[in-house]
Amino acid sequence: MRRAVCPGSFDPVTNGHLDIVGRASRLFDEVIVGVLINHSKTGLFTVEERIEMLRQATASYGNVRVESFHGLLVDFCRAQGAAVVIKGLRAVSDFDYELQMAQMNIGLSGVETLFMPTNPLYSFLSSSLVKDVVKWGGDASSYVPDFVGERLVTRLRQN
Ligand code: ADP
Repeated sequence: MRRAVCPGSFDPVTNGHLDIVGRASRLFDEVIVGVLINHSKTGLFTVEERIEMLRQATASYGNVRVESFHGLLVDFCRAQGAAVVIKGLRAVSDFDYELQMAQMNIGLSGVETLFMPTNPLYSFLSSSLVKDVVKWGGDASSYVPDFVGERLVTRLRQN
């Protein structure tokens, strides 16, 4: 069984994330989306809400699971029986940091990192940018699934 992990904060999931997860799901037997629990950073959505949205957004893929993790990514990979991490690269600016992490992770445990170039449609897209757009009344419908857009509007209008 060839398994890959797609890690991130997914606060919330965007079409950029889904593009990477969908493409990875065609290359591996199973893809595990790992939602990082970061106690030092409060997100707009709780980890449980992010997982719920990811599960709904990936429900049509038969081989994608969504789990949360804290601590080292390589320990999560080992626990899941995954030898590969998939990271999406949006721009050269993503590369420096991702390269450092990939090299650390292979040194720590032998887990490989594969970089997937972003779909050019989403190369500027991040969860934080989407949150800003919705917060100030912009239309994010091309960038997140409809139900995520609705949750964003509700949450950001409450705040
Ligand atoms: P962000 O909060 O910046 O959206 P995450 O930590 O949730 O990022 O991202 C998780 C993974 O998804 C990372 O590998 C990141 O490079 C990738 N990713 C995020 N947005 C995109 C995008 N628009 N296109 C391709 N990959 C992306």
